[in-house]
Amino acid sequence: MSRENLHDTVLETAARKDGDLNQRVVEIGRRIFELSDRYQPRVWQKAWWLERTTRMMDGDPRLRTRAFQFVDCLPALRTNSDIARHLREYLDPHFVELPRGAYALIGDGFLHGARDEVIGLLTRRGARGMAGRFITGFDTPSVVRTLRRLRSCGMAFTLDVLGEFTTSYAQADRYVHSYHDLIDRLTPITRSWSFVPGIDRDDRGPMPRLNLSIKLTSLDPHFDSIDPDRSIREVSRRLRPLLLHARQAGAFVNIDMESSKYHDLTLELFKRVLSEPEFRDWPDVGIVLQAYMKKGEAALADLLAWAEGRGTRFAVRLVKGAYWDAETAAAVRNNHEPPVWTQKWETDACYERMARAMLEHARLIRPAFASHNVRSLAVVCAVAEGLDLPAGAYEVQMLYGMGDPLKHAMVEMGRCVRVYCPYGDLMPGMGYLIRRLLENTSNEGFLKQSFEDRSGRDSLLADPASVRPPSAPLPARRYSNTCPEGPMPAFRNATNTSFASADNRRKMIGAIQYVRGEMGRKYPLIINGHPVSTDNWFVSHNPSNPGESVGQIALATPADADQAVAAACKAFHSWRLTRAKERAALLRKLADRLGMRRFELAATMILEVGKPWREADADVSEAIDHCRYYAEQIEWIESRPRRRNMPGEDNLLSYGPKGVCAVISPWAFPLAILTGMTTAPLAAGNTVVIKPARQASVLAAKFVEIIHDLGFPPGVVNFLPGDGDVVGTHLVEHGEVHVVAFTGSAAVGTQVIQCGAQVRPGQGFIKKMIVEMGGKNAIIVDDDADLDAAVSAIIESAFAFAGQKCSSCSRVIALDAVHDGLANRLKEAVESVVLGPAEEPSTTVGPVIDAEARDRINRYVETGRHEGRLLVQARLPAHCDRGYFAAPVVFTDVDPAARIAQEEIFGPVVAMLREESFERALEIANGTRYALTGGVFSRSPDHIDQARRGFAVGNLYINRRITGSQVDAQPFGGFKLSGTGVKAGSPDYLLHFMDARCITENTLRSGLVPNEREHLETT
Ligand SMILES: Cc1cc2nc3c(=O)[nH]c(=O)nc-3n(C[C@H](O)[C@H](O)[C@H](O)COP(=O)(O)OP(=O)(O)OC[C@H]3O[C@@H](n4cnc5c(N)ncnc54)[C@H](O)[C@@H]3O)c2cc1C
Repeated sequence: MSRENLHDTVLETAARKDGDLNQRVVEIGRRIFELSDRYQPRVWQKAWWLERTTRMMDGDPRLRTRAFQFVDCLPALRTNSDIARHLREYLDPHFVELPRGAYALIGDGFLHGARDEVIGLLTRRGARGMAGRFITGFDTPSVVRTLRRLRSCGMAFTLDVLGEFTTSYAQADRYVHSYHDLIDRLTPITRSWSFVPGIDRDDRGPMPRLNLSIKLTSLDPHFDSIDPDRSIREVSRRLRPLLLHARQAGAFVNIDMESSKYHDLTLELFKRVLSEPEFRDWPDVGIVLQAYMKKGEAALADLLAWAEGRGTRFAVRLVKGAYWDAETAAAVRNNHEPPVWTQKWETDACYERMARAMLEHARLIRPAFASHNVRSLAVVCAVAEGLDLPAGAYEVQMLYGMGDPLKHAMVEMGRCVRVYCPYGDLMPGMGYLIRRLLENTSNEGFLKQSFEDRSGRDSLLADPASVRPPSAPLPARRYSNTCPEGPMPAFRNATNTSFASADNRRKMIGAIQYVRGEMGRKYPLIINGHPVSTDNWFVSHNPSNPGESVGQIALATPADADQAVAAACKAFHSWRLTRAKERAALLRKLADRLGMRRFELAATMILEVGKPWREADADVSEAIDHCRYYAEQIEWIESRPRRRNMPGEDNLLSYGPKGVCAVISPWAFPLAILTGMTTAPLAAGNTVVIKPARQASVLAAKFVEIIHDLGFPPGVVNFLPGDGDVVGTHLVEHGEVHVVAFTGSAAVGTQVIQCGAQVRPGQGFIKKMIVEMGGKNAIIVDDDADLDAAVSAIIESAFAFAGQKCSSCSRVIALDAVHDGLANRLKEAVESVVLGPAEEPSTTVGPVIDAEARDRINRYVETGRHEGRLLVQARLPAHCDRGYFAAPVVFTDVDPAARIAQEEIFGPVVAMLREESFERALEIANGTRYALTGGVFSRSPDHIDQARRGFAVGNLYINRRITGSQVDAQPFGGFKLSGTGVKAGSPDYLLHFMDARCITENTLRSGLVPNEREHLETT
């Protein structure tokens, strides 16, 4: 059967309606309910109490959130007093309401030391009980006990070693090792068990007793669809030996499905590895498909077609999907369509269509149905019956600790029930535990509904496609991207390119080739709308391969600068009078054009400044955002002048442009910052002379080219590439430049301010200086922090774009209790970063900008060797020899006053400091001349609150990376020596490029006070 035919069959199946089916589904469903009622937990059983406790929180969403957050941080708390303190913080009466008695028990006060011990002990015990409900065991003996118990009830199992995502190769190795170890230990044990017919044999023969489930994100820290070949190669390196080991031991291995960004890659890897000769005829493997994915059915059709070609059956486990909340929230945040259905009935209906298609193709695959939903399971049974499939032709799977009565009912009905049994440390298993708690308490979850309302069971058995109840509100409303109190409505940021799409990857590769093809190009100055060639030209090099010239750029002189300023002055007279709507329309066109050329612009950035793919793409998105944001803002400002009218007197506050703005932009965000610094003054009605960073001149030239193609009037934007200390200084000093917008180092920035402050002969105004400078940004890691999350955020914040962002992290301040653990993980993670030329999609750390930067960074590394202890320095691969590479490095035992802890290095160098208390860590974090970005990893509400109040930075990030701010959502900019306190991408940014005017008119004429409305109508 061809792929297309199979696809058609699945779709036809989806459309088909079986008249009697629903009747039969209801009968089977009632039977399942009836049988499961016999197994409902009783009041004297632990399960009854645990269910009541979790459901108690349902009426109070805040309590539920706080309780789950507390559970999330529990494994990280070391002492009983830590637990008691956190409990008090999470249950703070400002946030949740508990009975008075509860506060008397947990509150501070008399004998609180002794009480804390008791609280700690009881909480630990309660948490272990809760964890023990969903987690099979913490070691092999406890797991084996559970598995035996399950078998005695006629249930099979699949074991999952807790853990998802890894930050290092070493962590991935440990994870794989635990699976090898599990196979070694459990094979002899499971072989010794006596035969249980329903679960050790299916309709075709014996089934492996040892059954494992595995998550691919745990096998490689860079499992990422941006470079599928590399990801598949690296993951397979660990997966293949594991599969071989399992095969030799007669075990079964199932590959779990994780969030949507891994969906296609997981399927691709599964197909590639299992097509290899040594696995092609192996039936004891399986994969998961998720019915909540909109493309679930297409994925199934594709898998069935592949199964036919492979010729050996394998298992397919159909689930609904465990990441619904995270998927929908991410979609709203990133402004894209959710990949999952947004109505519960849609997922349920899709599950039923896919289940039918799987059963109809049981000759190609062994179907397994994972659900705790009686309707979904009844449909599976009814469809199988209609197809004359024996009960052993498919499996029913459920999670350990969920829907136990259902499991017993299905066993009684002769189905093979397999229980998904997670095992291992609680710390890496927290994500799993929280997902289960969410599922158990979700209002839309079947389990909760069937538990709460027994009388409504028939409606729970109704066909979801015909009932179509309005389930949850759309995620756009449930997780809304709003700005309730802001001066302007919330802004919709541009969407970054998804490199999970093969088409987008092809486009980026094509764009890199295209840009490479035009490398010999020359870029003249642009003054008054005309290209101007000069006597001297300079070359812009590819820092990944400096032998490669990205383009030649004309070098401007002070005389050119004079001409550019004169042109800008002349153009100002008409541009300032152009209506705000027209200026905004041009900026929106600019945004569209940047969007149309996004791959080419990103590719130019990759080759000219060495930004890796995703960073370059995000830079273009931010540039687009600036255009649209300032367009919206100027319309807002112009349409809402502030009137403060009184009887007989009208007052009007409005804003107008200042004049010529010199834009001196950096290479670190070569398009985003350049665009922001240019479009803000343009929107406000100023004209502009751009002096881009030399290293990013080709990109700037393309940007100006686009502006001119769009029809901005001549002279409104002039382009003056050249030397900062010649042309830049000349512009700053120029008597007809009204505003200087500068982004760069503190050393140059302070000089710019000094220079610009002088009033030159003939200059009849004070220059406005908008200066953004560097940072010495710190991340504090508290003693209750999630270290895995902290490590990945530190790696990204410190080493993305080789640490060359003004927001990059260059200090990590760790609390004593976590310092060594964090240092170990950080070391392993740094050893795992992928260094390479920026154009390689899997590169996470590219080159630094030029030889001068590399040498300066290397000098700091030498200083670091004296000022601290070298924790780790990444190894530079051989293919980095040609470029300007600086290997990421971390020093520990650094004194807060050391140079590497105080000076801005602008490279991948991190100083790690140890502190005893959070208060002291905050003091150290604030103890530099800078105040740009900062981060805190903590799960203590009180410490987070302290940081909010006391961490003196322009952008504070809590429990996330400290780079990657978005226009409007995180207006960017700092104070102290980090900047003049101006926030780019904020609702008040444009006002810095404008002068405010207040007009007061006395409207009283000989005692006549005009009606306010009449007067407004005439003004
Ligand atoms: C043995 C086993 C293995 C599993 N393996 C995986 C796996 O590899 N990958 C994975 O992702 N999950 C896996 N799961 C988890 C599984 O996805 C959830 O347990 C399951 O979604 C719960 O569905 P249900 O049919 O039991 O309950 P129901 O209550 O009927 O369905 C709940 C599900 O509906 C979906 N949903 C909820 N609200 C909405 C809405 N508003 N719009 C659209 N859809 C909505 C969500 O998927 C939610 O989980 C596994 C589960 C089991 C039992």
